[in-house]
Amino acid sequence: MLGIFLIILNSPGFSQHDLEKKYDVNQYILDLAVSNSSTAISGNVIINASVAAATLDTFVVDLIDTLLPGYTYMVVDSVFIDGVLTGFQHHDHLVFIPLASPLSQDQLFSAQIFYHGKGTANYSTNYNGIGKKTYMGIIHTYTHSEPDWSKVWWPCKQILNDKADSVTFYITTDSSNITGSNGILSSTEILPGGKVKYKWETKYPIDFYLISFVVGPLDKYITYAQLPNTQDTLLLQNILFANSIYYPAHLKAIDKTKQLVYLFSELFGMYPFKDEKYGYSVIGTPLGAMEHQTMCTIGYQAMDTTSAHYYSYYFWYVAHELAHQWFGDYVTCSEWNYLWLNEGFASYMEYVALQHLESQAKADYWIQNAHNKVVSLPGGSVYVPDSLASDENKLFDYRLQYKKGASILHTLRYEINNDSLFFAVLRDYLSAYAYSVASAEDFKQIAETTTGIDFTDFFDQWYYGQGYPVFHIYWDQGNDTLTIESEQLTSSQETTLFKTHFDLKINSVAGDTVIRLFQETNIETYKIFFPETVISVEFDPEFWLIQANEIVVSTAGNAGDPFSFRLMPNPASDYIIVMVDQKAILQKSMISVYDIRGQFLFQQKILQNKTNLDISMLDKGVYLVQLQNHKNRAVLKFVKE
Ligand SMILES: [Zn+2]
Repeated sequence: MLGIFLIILNSPGFSQHDLEKKYDVNQYILDLAVSNSSTAISGNVIINASVAAATLDTFVVDLIDTLLPGYTYMVVDSVFIDGVLTGFQHHDHLVFIPLASPLSQDQLFSAQIFYHGKGTANYSTNYNGIGKKTYMGIIHTYTHSEPDWSKVWWPCKQILNDKADSVTFYITTDSSNITGSNGILSSTEILPGGKVKYKWETKYPIDFYLISFVVGPLDKYITYAQLPNTQDTLLLQNILFANSIYYPAHLKAIDKTKQLVYLFSELFGMYPFKDEKYGYSVIGTPLGAMEHQTMCTIGYQAMDTTSAHYYSYYFWYVAHELAHQWFGDYVTCSEWNYLWLNEGFASYMEYVALQHLESQAKADYWIQNAHNKVVSLPGGSVYVPDSLASDENKLFDYRLQYKKGASILHTLRYEINNDSLFFAVLRDYLSAYAYSVASAEDFKQIAETTTGIDFTDFFDQWYYGQGYPVFHIYWDQGNDTLTIESEQLTSSQETTLFKTHFDLKINSVAGDTVIRLFQETNIETYKIFFPETVISVEFDPEFWLIQANEIVVSTAGNAGDPFSFRLMPNPASDYIIVMVDQKAILQKSMISVYDIRGQFLFQQKILQNKTNLDISMLDKGVYLVQLQNHKNRAVLKFVKE
């Protein structure tokens, strides 16, 4: 899922009834009558299952009963077990069906539930089960069920680690409508009374929240993507608005998707649902998207390739949603606590796709933007503790799950320090948990086995831990020796040390050299043989780490007399305040501003402790501020927003 969404309902509670764990779902067969102009729904769902416990005496599924009277409700009309009409109770958003006689382990059974009701369209929210929108005068309905909203529109077992092996979905609607759903559209049957019945089928394992539909008088667009190392092509089946001003952009975004399908299949292993399809169902909400398996539901502006924004947000969207087909759909987080495996990974693939298909400069912008978002608050872990996992407003934390989640995967890539090994880890993880679920610990184990590296500290500090490191780097050159002292503080009390490698770019009279050091304790001193005269030192020039840093230099012979200064706010948009100590004023220091490549931009005298620098004319990006007098020089980095 990617987007900004407004949830005005509290979750009715996660009802992972223990009784639901006593069976395994083999197949769902949904047979529903759906309208494009109303969220009313009726029909039946067959659940073919097998008994997982020693015995099963009550069959239980999730289905909402009422959620604020008059708005959302589903009413069960009748229930059949193996074709026999059976009694039931419906309360607490669960349907309890006592079995006539208990079933024993591995026994197969079939439950059929007839029901009707109405979804959440009256709420001003996009994403709660089933919704209705009007765009360009076209009224359509769609579903969005992550994390636990499937039960708003159909009876199912909402437990992540039980994927159905296959799903057949019959959608009956007005013949003026077309539909988008999972898998292959295997038949279209014209019915009397101006109705049509579409049959969608998927034979790949699928989790409950990834099952969806879109229904409306929309248009189709079909094309094919080439796959690597095979003659096979992948069907790209889309439904969209042909009358939209965005239509040409949507076709371009679908074309870009072809390149992404090829790239990701090369990097992660073959597209996991290649015998069926990939596609987009474009809906009338502007932004946001959801990675429904083989058919992403996406807002019409999210695929706007004409956006003037240089950094191409549409590209972020299409890369993210396609990446979810591997990270989220093919391998799904086993509990919402491990949402990182879905959202952090899909988000990081935006960066990877930019590197391969756009430019490193755009990728650099992406990761700096992610880092800036992460450091906007001092705490928070990527791991979702139980106290937050049941509250979707907190679960889908953009800063932590999407941006920090992606950034720490980037740092893991840095620690592995070998791209072919890093992508081997991803492929090994995907193939080990193919069409199934995994935890963060499962991923850690794969990463350790494939690389031979112990990632215990890495996970403790970056994944389970909170915040980020703050480095103060002091450097001093005497004769042939460059002395570097790294003092590491952290932004959160919860994590007091990040044991990590870090890079320093040493700019000397002979050019630039990047050195890699390892921080094992909070204060480290490194002595490096470095005969060329050092001009400046830059921290983490390739943006591998979420961090804040300050670099202070003292030239040889003046080790006792360095000065330091501070910049705030940082990031900033119009003005940045340079704060210096009294010594800098007395020593007639100057401030110089450089771009990240070291190009001089402008200079200003220091006359007081706080000096305002006007940065309103600068483009967005990273800049360096140098404070210098006849003896000393210090450099800090700031981000212009
Ligand atoms: Zn996502």
